[in-house]
Amino acid sequence: MIPLRRTCKEVTALVIAREDQTLPFRERLALRLHMAICAACPKFERQVLTMRNAMHQWRNYQEPPNKPELAAQKTTSSS
Ligand SMILES: [Zn+2]
Repeated sequence: MIPLRRTCKEVTALVIAREDQTLPFRERLALRLHMAICAACPKFERQVLTMRNAMHQWRNYQEPPNKPELAAQKTTSSS
C-alpha cells in the first residue's frame, strides 16, 4: 500500500507546486484524499485558484480587447 496521507503543510506545498508542474498521479490522489477530510486546505486551494485567475487576467491585461464590466455586487446583510 502506498501511504497517501499528507499533512496540511505538504498539501499546501503540492497545491503551489501544481501551478508549475503536473503532479504525479499518486500525489494528485493524495491531494484529493486530503481535501476530502480537511477543512482548511480546500479553502487554501480556492485562494490559490483565485490568485491564479487574477494573475492570468493581469498577464493578459497588456492589451485588453474589451474591458469587462466590473459588476461589483455587494450584499450587506444585517442581522
Ligand atoms: Zn489540510
